[in-house]
Amino acid sequence: MQKVMKVDSATFERMKKVYSTNTHLPAGAAFRMKGSRVVVTGYTKSKKVMFQGVAAADEVQRWGTTQSVSAKQRANRQQPTDLPAGFSSWSVLGSDEVGTGSYFGPLTVAAVYVAANQVEPITQLGVRDSKTLTDPEIIKLAKKIMATCPYHIVNLNPRIYNDKIKGRSQAALKALCHNLALSKVLNQLKPQVPAAILIDQFEQPRTYFRHLQGQPVIVRDHVYFRVKGEQAHVAVAAASVVARAYSLKMMDQLSEQAGMTLPIGANHLVDEVAAKLIRRGYQLRDFAKLHFANTDKAQQLAER
Ligand code: MN
Repeated sequence: MQKVMKVDSATFERMKKVYSTNTHLPAGAAFRMKGSRVVVTGYTKSKKVMFQGVAAADEVQRWGTTQSVSAKQRANRQQPTDLPAGFSSWSVLGSDEVGTGSYFGPLTVAAVYVAANQVEPITQLGVRDSKTLTDPEIIKLAKKIMATCPYHIVNLNPRIYNDKIKGRSQAALKALCHNLALSKVLNQLKPQVPAAILIDQFEQPRTYFRHLQGQPVIVRDHVYFRVKGEQAHVAVAAASVVARAYSLKMMDQLSEQAGMTLPIGANHLVDEVAAKLIRRGYQLRDFAKLHFANTDKAQQLAER
């Protein structure tokens, strides 16, 4: 399957960014992206772009006519669709968060940029969703990622978290943190632009953007959402690892401050530890996410 599309200069430049070259460049070509289902080659002089492979037709359709690109992308944002062909080998800025389900400790969001030429080496390191890695592995991998890839971490320790969540849902707070982390990395990358941004999806894109209304900077261009985003691009896996490593460090600090090991999660053990903290005269708001039901349970246990 082969399709050829003639585009204007602006679209050509845009495509050049989206399809970062990851393979041998033929004579006269400005870019060539080789994915498993489609190969895209752009020729400098003619501004002709060739799409080859089983997904060629789908990939051409993605660009529509040159004028309708942005309208089409806007529509994609409303209705989650499949990611474009070859996405996993693109230069992608990914974001993920940890700590939302844990009573003790921070909410931590990381955004990590993995350029096309780093996709293979970062994957080879064994970077995957942090839930499937041990703590020592996470720490080791995070160091390597942070040494190679532009990143930003937004960490809300409990005291700040409890303050920021007032009048908001946790999802709204998460959205703000993702947006901030992403915008910080975009600033670092300038004038470079990632081919796409992938957020590990935690709610509908519409709702996500509604939470961001009124923010001075809203990252929304070329943003994709994906549940289990780490499977769609290693940048999300890398973000998950970086966020978890930072969260572990914060948990250690908080445990030291409390004089006892603060467990992760929101189970019964957590209530016992929280009750102990209260009995020893500590303020739960310095260590825990107060809106969790664990707060009441701990209070009751402490008063027994
Ligand atoms: Mn996630």
